[in-house]
Amino acid sequence: MSNKNHRPDTQVVHGGQNRKRNAGIVNTPVFHASTVVFDSTAQMLDAHERTIKKGEKHLFYGRRGTPTHWTLQEAITELEGGADTFLTPSGLSACTTAIIGCVKAGDHVLMVDSVYEPTRSFCQGLLKSFGVETTYYDPLIGGELAALMRPNTKLVFCESPGSHTFEMQDLPAIAAAAHKGGALVAVDNTWASPLFCQPLKLGCDISIQAATKYVVGHSDALLGTICVNDAALPGINKAISQLGMAVGPDDAYLATRGFRTLSVRLRQHEKNAMAVAAWLQKRPEVKRVLFPALPDDPGHALWKRDCSGASGLMGIVFHRTSPAAVAAMIDTLKLFPLGYSWGGFESLACPSSAGKARTARPWTEPMPGVRIHVGLEDSDDLIADLEQALGHFNRALG
Ligand SMILES: *Cc1c(COP(=O)(O)O)cnc(C)c1O
Repeated sequence: MSNKNHRPDTQVVHGGQNRKRNAGIVNTPVFHASTVVFDSTAQMLDAHERTIKKGEKHLFYGRRGTPTHWTLQEAITELEGGADTFLTPSGLSACTTAIIGCVKAGDHVLMVDSVYEPTRSFCQGLLKSFGVETTYYDPLIGGELAALMRPNTKLVFCESPGSHTFEMQDLPAIAAAAHKGGALVAVDNTWASPLFCQPLKLGCDISIQAATKYVVGHSDALLGTICVNDAALPGINKAISQLGMAVGPDDAYLATRGFRTLSVRLRQHEKNAMAVAAWLQKRPEVKRVLFPALPDDPGHALWKRDCSGASGLMGIVFHRTSPAAVAAMIDTLKLFPLGYSWGGFESLACPSSAGKARTARPWTEPMPGVRIHVGLEDSDDLIADLEQALGHFNRALG
């Protein structure tokens, strides 16, 4: 229904729609399928040829996808400007599958030091045991990444802004250095969502979403997406099919339904987050608010250049802190329940021991801090809640 000439808000609403395929129904129905039956051996062979050899979106076998999946895949592909998008059962499996699809035994991965910790665990665990070495690099490295490239470096993995520490990365400079050395570049793009940042358009090859977060948007499904350009497509396609990655149609449906309202939700997250961040910055106990949309954030210039908006996730760093004070704050928040994940309509808080796994560039801010997700509530209510909880933080600190 839409196309690459439309603006992002239009692509979010119409991308991947195919009413002819769906008998006129607005939303692609949920196709529950394992077996697909054929009228003849010739038709079966044709379906095999089209699906497996040519990679067409054609009904063949449930694991290979149904129209429910294709709608979401095509919508993300269009918005991110890729060649195709693959689905995985979680955001973490999107990260690990993307890595597996780019390397083999004896290869080397350059991984950003601020990466989501379960992705780091995969590199130190399974990936290492299969003979792939990982080196961690400073998130602020930019074009100096060139000095870390080895002849066997096949993948440079970025996450911008980084998990818990929120440093912005210079993706075009990193992509140029990586490509010169023959490596592909993957980006975990979950914070900005496919609406506010499109890494493929910045020169990267693979854009990963923990679609669990803003794409699903309602805290009720797990899903990962891997959007690829032509250079990355064959490797990722091979990993997805040989690993047997498949996503349930109900989850794909929920993700597509969430995706249709991405632009209105994210603009409200952004508006509320800006108000909360500006208020937090003025608080005497707050040393820094880690949020690249703030004009005095060290990553602000890169954010402004590469992103068209900000989401609702940020970090709070205190001048003085203790685990008990952070617990007192979080335990007395009423509108920010304590929970993992984020990206749903609701606000959340969790303690942050940012940077404790880091090896390339130590994180020197006082920890623990607090990571908050600013939801779609009224920002004045959120600020009032933070204010009373900071009172408990201060009393616990003594
Ligand atoms: C949450 C998250 C993931 C993992 O997503 P799941 O769906 O929970 O597996 C990966 N990367 C980032 C940046 C995340 O925030």
